[in-house]
Amino acid sequence: MKNDTKLVHAGRHPEQQFGAVNPPVYHASTILHPSVAAMEASGKTPFGGVRYGRFGTPTTFAFEEAMAAVEGGHKTVATSSGLAAITGALLAFLKAGDHLLMVDSTYFPTRKFCDSVLAGLGIETTYYDPLIGAGIAGLMRPETRVVFTESPGSLTFEVQDVPAIAAAAHAVGAVVMMDNTWGVRTFQPFRHGIDVSIQACTKYVVGHADAMLGAITLGDEDTWLRVKTSVAAFGHSPGADELYLGLRGLRTLGVRLARHAETALRLCTWLEGRPEVARVLYPPLPSDPGHALWKRDFDGACGLFGVILKPAAKAALDAMLDHYEHFNLGFSWGGFESLVIPTTGHSIIRTATAWRPEGPSLRFHAGLEDADDLLADLEAGFARLNAAA
Ligand SMILES: *Cc1c(COP(=O)(O)O)cnc(C)c1O
Repeated sequence: MKNDTKLVHAGRHPEQQFGAVNPPVYHASTILHPSVAAMEASGKTPFGGVRYGRFGTPTTFAFEEAMAAVEGGHKTVATSSGLAAITGALLAFLKAGDHLLMVDSTYFPTRKFCDSVLAGLGIETTYYDPLIGAGIAGLMRPETRVVFTESPGSLTFEVQDVPAIAAAAHAVGAVVMMDNTWGVRTFQPFRHGIDVSIQACTKYVVGHADAMLGAITLGDEDTWLRVKTSVAAFGHSPGADELYLGLRGLRTLGVRLARHAETALRLCTWLEGRPEVARVLYPPLPSDPGHALWKRDFDGACGLFGVILKPAAKAALDAMLDHYEHFNLGFSWGGFESLVIPTTGHSIIRTATAWRPEGPSLRFHAGLEDADDLLADLEAGFARLNAAA
């Protein structure tokens, strides 16, 4: 089955629910057991069925079944946010004295978690160059337990050689994790050596900027049980309505992603030709340094990209950003609407590699609006930038 077909069918069992196309939403904390014996039996396999709301209901299981199919893994554990998926996955494998290799271009809250919570627990993090490839072998220590990847990198969009990194990590028995949010549907993590794939479903899976949801997908039963046990211990369980919105979003993800990517490529190509722009960061662009790896490993793209401007005064930049009609200022991405954020300054932190933008940097999300309207919006923005310069 092709990926877009999977998105439509995965996790649906109409024959189990009176023929209804979509699964019902179970709003449940308490689950009643018919006898003491049944209650005791359910405790022997706490993740084997419906026992208590936090461990999952049929709504949870339908979403998890669908996400496992989308990611091409064995089973999924749903979480209350993308960040809960990251922290839940890391803490399922790391304990005091362990060493973590974390990509230097990681999502900023992931870095913050490593530097605060993991450091406090006695787990050491070494940040590595996103472009290190097989060279990661040189950073491995006997106590290296996890190698964490994210590709393309948050805000800076470096494409990693994931298969080379995974091969080096597996050679010394380390677990390879990936934040695969940018590559949902278009990057198949388990075909590229990933053991634990993380999705911030808040972004494209939900797709409408109205719910927080995460997913951790595992390649085999043992890893699944380990992660499920950890996530259950932390209580990172998602709400019933959020799970439903995730399931609902999945059904249209294929067409939405295609449109987001088509618009993004058109905007990026246009932006590359603008005199105000130093660089556009979008792997599908032939000029992007990560283009060859993206072409080798991805089957499509999404609508998220970066732009580095030539030097500009802050007041002129603010005049450009404050008055866009469609590119509104807001965190997160993957919803139907276009967004922009300035990423200069504190939001891009590097400790293993240098990040030297020529001028102010921005992150854009190309939404589902008509691309002509979005181009006109960008053009009017440059007119404001130039007028204020
Ligand atoms: C947004 C985001 C997350 C966190 O997801 P939340 O649902 O907001 O917690 C994790 N990774 C990446 C790459 C993201 O963009």
